[in-house]
Amino acid sequence: MLKIDNLHVEIEGGEILKGLGLEVGKGEIHAIMGPNGSGKSTLSNVLMGHPRYDVTDGTIEFLGEDVLELEPDERARLGMFLAFQYPSEVPGVSVANFLRTAVNSVREKELPPMEMYRLLQDKMKIMQMDPKFAERYLNEGFSGGEKKRNEILQMLMLEPKLAIMDETDSGLDIDALQVVSKGVNELRGPEFSAVIITHYQRILRYIEPDHVHVMLDGRIVTSGGKDLALQLEDKGYDWVRQEFGSAA
Ligand code: ADP
Ligand code: MG
Ligand code: MG
Repeated sequence: MLKIDNLHVEIEGGEILKGLGLEVGKGEIHAIMGPNGSGKSTLSNVLMGHPRYDVTDGTIEFLGEDVLELEPDERARLGMFLAFQYPSEVPGVSVANFLRTAVNSVREKELPPMEMYRLLQDKMKIMQMDPKFAERYLNEGFSGGEKKRNEILQMLMLEPKLAIMDETDSGLDIDALQVVSKGVNELRGPEFSAVIITHYQRILRYIEPDHVHVMLDGRIVTSGGKDLALQLEDKGYDWVRQEFGSAA
């Protein structure tokens, strides 16, 4: 489904990703963990198509397509969901309107208004959201938890084949973590894959990953099952540095 090979990425002349490889199969949930500065957000920004990053070597394929040749909206139409690629605040656009545009933009035919309405009601119920929330202006005055909830609502509406989530290091609270977990667990199944990028081990108490990867200095240095996450929780990233850090 997603295949990243020998990815090298620079920003302002400094190399940040140094030959990263990752394969995500259909129906798999992967966690990428690593200390601050290891390049996790760089990876998600490159997957999103952020123009500031130079891919100097390597490939990214999604469903056999060369992702690096696709615009962010084309990536979305293929079934990639990148939570953070969407606008943070849109004055005068309600949540409902925004979601309608987002859903229709990944479909060949527009969803009839009544079906759109039902879909929204249905997904808001799953996320235990007050229906009035849909009438609010997108992200205007949203709390951190509401932003996260909205992002996950959007994911449920779009039903992507692959979701990539960067749980920024800026401390998601437990409530927001549970929201993210609920959304991912809701979609979990043979047709849905996810890559959860996180500094913290604690999200993995709510989402059980099939595969765990540890990133250090721009590469994935070790991979394993969910016991690797437990090991990390136990021993911390210093252990990773000692075990896998290069002396160079
Ligand atoms: P992580 O998400 O794992 O904390 P990042 O991808 O944010 O790591 O950062 C990896 C490295 O790249 C860090 O050393 C950081 O200083 C550097 N870096 C990230 N973004 C930029 C940028 N816009 N300009 C210069 N250096 C950057
Ligand atoms: Mg960071
Ligand atoms: Mg980061």
